[in-house]
Formats: sequence, structure tokens, C-alpha cells
Amino acid sequence: MAVRGHEDAWPRPKSCRVISVANQKGGVGKTTTTVNIAAALAMHGQRVLVVDLDPQGNASTALGMERDNQTRSIYHCLVEDEEIRKLSQPVPDIPNLWCAPATIDLAGAEIELVSLVAREARLKRAFAAYDTSDLDYILIDCPPSLGLLTVNAMVACDEVMIPIQCEYYALEGLGQLLRNVELVQSHLNPGLAISTILLTMYDGRTRLSQQVADEVRSHFGSTVLETLIPRSVRVSEAPSYGQSVMTYDPGSTGAVAYLEAAREIAHRAQTVSG
Ligand code: ATP
Ligand code: MG
Repeated sequence: MAVRGHEDAWPRPKSCRVISVANQKGGVGKTTTTVNIAAALAMHGQRVLVVDLDPQGNASTALGMERDNQTRSIYHCLVEDEEIRKLSQPVPDIPNLWCAPATIDLAGAEIELVSLVAREARLKRAFAAYDTSDLDYILIDCPPSLGLLTVNAMVACDEVMIPIQCEYYALEGLGQLLRNVELVQSHLNPGLAISTILLTMYDGRTRLSQQVADEVRSHFGSTVLETLIPRSVRVSEAPSYGQSVMTYDPGSTGAVAYLEAAREIAHRAQTVSG
């Protein structure tokens, strides 16, 4: 099935789609989704930049970014106006994929940003200074909070993608996230839309997983991707090898599901960016 993906060309968006992967709930699969969707898109000819906006730096680790205390990171972009292009690094083994890494400095950014002018629009400003004509997607991995870093992502993007874990507390806190998106829409970024919801860590053996999936679908309709991401050990192993599951084990159920989800996202490009 993984091979099937290479047969058809995925449509390129007319202009670069900037997508924030956000959910203030921790551990719902934001980073896993960002990394694997980005890898799948890149493996199908799309030119993709991952922006790691989480001080934990999990996306940078999963994409094999080398970091030391000299590394220029997204922190320097937000706080010191460094160009994104200069600090982005190519991802090993996946052509067309780049990552603007996070370093631990970013942990201080929430506080340092407070005193800066237009503190909610620092990332937007950085994107504006960056010629995105040679990119098809920018995916932003957000931290598990609704603080200034996530607000920066929402101001800088066109679309929000929300991963929802298929478990009991999944929907708690979702209202707060939706209200935050509305606030950003009405005050800072009128073009912002929740374009995509992805159900993650689905376990078909449990009624609970099914119930959560049904509830999310009945509430959010076609915003929810058809593809469900199953719970898969291979998905959770991949980051410790500095890899996406797309390269670590392309035939695994998790990799195949992320490929299908990325395909859906790519085929929605026309409707979203039109
Ligand atoms: P945080 O809020 O801390 O940034 P997150 O929302 O980015 O977390 P991830 O780091 O992507 O979530 O995932 C949380 C944990 O669940 C990780 O250990 C990851 O490997 C594991 N995980 C994610 N998706 C799956 C899956 N489909 N199957 C099995 N494990 C998964
Ligand atoms: Mg994360």
C-alpha cells in the first residue's frame, strides 16, 4: 500500500499552505502528526518546511536535527529577527523536507516575547520576510499550551489542524481551543480556519475509541479526515531513531495511515487555498 502512493501525483497548492498543528492538550499526537504528514507530503513531491515551535524540540529530534548550544533556532527568529531560511536545515534522507529547529532557548521565549512590539505577530513577520514561492507547505508544531507561541502560530498560518486522541478526555478543553481560534480570527487573523481534524491513536478494539471518533465526526463533519491513525508501536519507536515512521517502517499500519491522511490533505488543497 505504501508503494501505491508513488503512482499518482499529488496536487500542489497554488500557494504555500501554512498549517498550525495545535491542541493545548499534551500528548495527543501533534508532533507525531506534524512530522509524519510532513514526511509523507515531501515523499510525494511536495516541498515542505516543518517549524518546531515547541521548546521540547520533539519534532526537531524526530527529524534528526543536530543541535548544540551554537544552533540557531526558531527562538532566534522570534526574538532576534533571524531569517527562517538561514536557520532551516535539510532533513536527512528525505529530499524536499526542511526543519526550522527548536532549542531549549525557546522555553524563555513566552516571557521574552511579552515585551516585544507586535508580540503575537513575530512568526508572521518572519514568514513575510521569507520567499515561500519555493515551498508548498509549512507545518508548525505547536507546544501543549495556548500561550504566545501558539498564538504566534495561529497568527502566522492560514489553517489549523487539530489532532484528537481517541480517548476519554479527548474532547475536554476542545471548547477552549475553539474559542482561542475564534479570538485570533476576530482580532488578529481573519483568514484563519480550522481546516482539518485528525483522529489519532485509534484502537479499533475498544468501544471507547469508536465512540470518540463518532462524536468528533458528528460534531465536526467533513473537517475530520476519513483516515484514522491507529495506535502503532512503530509510530512511537521511530523518533528514538531520529526518523519519521514514514522512513523507519514505511509498511507499518501507522505509516500507511499517515500516508493516507497526507494524501487527503493534499487533495483538499484546491478547495482550501482556492
Ligand atoms: P506534546 O503535547 O507533549 O507536544 P504531542 O501532542 O506532540 O505531545 P506526540 O509527542 O506526538 O504528542 O505523542 C505523544 C506520545 O504518543 C509519544 O510518545 C508518541 O510516540 C506516542 N504516539 C503518538 N501517536 C501514536 C500512535 N499512533 N501510536 C502509538 N503511539 C503514538
Ligand atoms: Mg509535541
